[in-house]
Amino acid sequence: MDPSSFAELPRPTRLALHAAAACLGVLVAVLALDVAAGDRLDLPTLHRWAAVLAGALATGTTIARTLVIERDRRAWIPLAIGLGLYTAGSLLWAVFWSGDPDPPIPSAADVLWLAFYPAAYATIAMVLRRSFVRAPASMWLDGLVAVLTFAAAGIALIYGPVFHEATRSDIGVQAAYPIGDLAFVVLVIAIVAMSGWRPGARWVLIGTAMLCWFIGDAINLDSVAGGGAIAHGAADVLWCAGFGLLALAPWAAPSAPEGLRVEGARVLLVPAGFSAVALGLLAADRITTLNGITAGLALCAVAVALARTGLTLREVQLLADARHESLVDELTGLPSRRQFHRRMDTVLREAEVEDLPFALLIFDLDRFKELNDTLGHGAGDTLLQLIGRRLRAALGRDTLLARLGGDEFAVLLPPGSGRADALRAGNKVVDAIAQPFAIEGLTLDVGVSVGIALYPDHAQQDGELLRRADVAMYLAKGAGGGVALYDPTRDLHTRDRLVLGQQLRAGLDRGDEIVVHYQPKVDPQLGRVLGVEALVRWQHPTHGLMMPPDFLPLAEKSGLMNRLTSTVLDQALEQLARWRADGLDLTVAVNLAVGDLADATLGDAVARALALHDVPPTCLTLEVTEDGVIADPDAAAAALAAIARLGIRVALDDFGTGWSSLAHLRRLPVTELKIDRSFVADMVRDEDDASIVRTTLDLARSLRLRVVAEGVEDEDTWTSLAELGADAIQGFVLSHPLPAAQMDAWLAARRDGPIARCAVPTTPTSTHDDEHATPLRFRL
Ligand code: C2E
Ligand code: CA
Ligand code: CA
Repeated sequence: MDPSSFAELPRPTRLALHAAAACLGVLVAVLALDVAAGDRLDLPTLHRWAAVLAGALATGTTIARTLVIERDRRAWIPLAIGLGLYTAGSLLWAVFWSGDPDPPIPSAADVLWLAFYPAAYATIAMVLRRSFVRAPASMWLDGLVAVLTFAAAGIALIYGPVFHEATRSDIGVQAAYPIGDLAFVVLVIAIVAMSGWRPGARWVLIGTAMLCWFIGDAINLDSVAGGGAIAHGAADVLWCAGFGLLALAPWAAPSAPEGLRVEGARVLLVPAGFSAVALGLLAADRITTLNGITAGLALCAVAVALARTGLTLREVQLLADARHESLVDELTGLPSRRQFHRRMDTVLREAEVEDLPFALLIFDLDRFKELNDTLGHGAGDTLLQLIGRRLRAALGRDTLLARLGGDEFAVLLPPGSGRADALRAGNKVVDAIAQPFAIEGLTLDVGVSVGIALYPDHAQQDGELLRRADVAMYLAKGAGGGVALYDPTRDLHTRDRLVLGQQLRAGLDRGDEIVVHYQPKVDPQLGRVLGVEALVRWQHPTHGLMMPPDFLPLAEKSGLMNRLTSTVLDQALEQLARWRADGLDLTVAVNLAVGDLADATLGDAVARALALHDVPPTCLTLEVTEDGVIADPDAAAAALAAIARLGIRVALDDFGTGWSSLAHLRRLPVTELKIDRSFVADMVRDEDDASIVRTTLDLARSLRLRVVAEGVEDEDTWTSLAELGADAIQGFVLSHPLPAAQMDAWLAARRDGPIARCAVPTTPTSTHDDEHATPLRFRL
């Protein structure tokens, strides 16, 4: 196997490289000492040969890098060549002109030195080639602000010697060096800005190296322009230090995106800092006129910074628009599931306030799947369109008819409607659909089953009302179609409810019935496992394994939620501690319920649990939903602030399904968004969903939030999310939630090679990694 990092190299190679680095270090230290001592060490020979020596070492190690490590080998070849040419230039200089009081400028050495710049640009271009696909506009603007500010400051520095103080007329070439360096630094700063201010080590090294050269070359230019000879001393130190840093850059390992994240407002400080510097330059210009170029660039920087702020606001707006579009079902033009839920909310509130009943109907077509399979999707689509048209005509205006998805529709009657209205509407639906449909020259008879649930008789909450209408629909289907009203005596859930509540309490007391399953979160680009989400299950003594939707509402109603949450938290942290002791560097996410956030002691309880299991707070994420936040925004904000202060991450779960999140986002210490699976599941097929995912990612990136996409069920979605730059994915394509023991085995099978070694057919890219670490995909 080819070594893929420094650590995997054979020992002799590593020793040789360490020796080279040590030589460079000693060289820089001695030169620096000499400068500090005011040249009293008297080392003319060392000064003469320093650049040659440093250049040779840097060239040698860079050549070694292209030979021994496979990963982006080709990208580093131009740098090696550039360094080689530069060193040859230094050699020429040292042999022929060093010490000459009036050396030729330009000389043949300049040709070799200048050749370095295009070569180094080629390396940067190649390293970058696959790293940036889709940086959102806000990042481009960040880059531009940084570039303009830096260029303004840099030009202020070299403007004097070049344009004012030059006593020699032939400094043109000497001016090219600081300008070339400056362009380089500016480029690297732009790259760093566009990675969201999360530079990898390699960019920091290259940027600092070129900054050293820039200062060294500026000092040199200053002394040449003033009529002096080539400067030594400080310039030598900086040149050699630059070589040292350049030599290290190719070896910097690809950084793991997660570890590099800087979260929250801290990152927004960086662009803000640049704008402040730009403003400072403008202020300085008022006092002592700097120069027109500097002032102009600084002015542009401030303008772009303003544009960047405006853009973030626009992104927020765009997301809102994208959501609006998803309110209409594209095929039928009927309101979509999302709009239906919104309307249901409104109707529910109205009905509550005015104490009025209303009715909800749900229906789907009988044997629609057969029809789709035999006649094709085209015919199925036509049928759905015809049904939409007919029903809208039959039901009239003040009834909301929505398509929930597939062949499932819902009808919401306005407040004031009762059982009789509901049955009448149900029969209208049945009659309208009973008329034959003419599709593709065929006459089709279609059957339908309608379920009705009444507010407030059958349920008082939207979720519950829907579920009951659904139960009624299945009763209708069981009866061979037609209309059925919800019947509590035929609904297992209610009959058992009381008993179930008592059993849950007993189960919590006993302590072994609540079990936690784990589902992995994986970096979509590197295939590295980042952490797991803990999902609760109830091992019921007679009903078997029960899923959260079947008992969480019950736990909430019976006041058992706090106990349930702390049980899950406890188990999850205990398990995490075990994995960490095993050497697995994972995080765990635990879900909070609506009620948990209203509990003022939550922060303390979590802190105690972390201490008990000796787990660092940064390894825990708490997932909250918008519902949980909206229920009592002030209490939630306080609870979350307490949690964030502990260093625990907070994720906003099911993002996109609520409506007020954007306003809240800014107020809450949220560090992560989990895009709801209803958008993710179909994103490769549904342009609306894809656009919501994309806009959410852009928005999150400009707010510096991590994004997890959940509900990833297939490889295409995975690839697409990798390309869009999602930070983590979760879903059946990786694994279903598994009991601890099975998750253990799953993780063990993947522990070496965060990253199983099988190549991906596509080339996922990264916007936050400093290089295109060979995209590796997980073995499933
Ligand atoms: P969630 O937080 O959104 O959790 C993800 C749910 O999506 C899980 O359902 C998981 O099994 C499912 N899922 C994962 N990958 C896929 C996929 O690729 N496709 C599809 N269709 N589904 C996928 P689960 O375990 O049934 O949990 C349902 C909900 O119950 C959770 O939604 C969460 O809101 C809640 N929940 C689960 N555990 C807890 C808990 O310990 N405490 C609280 N308060 N709520 C919990
Ligand atoms: Ca969750
Ligand atoms: Ca979720």
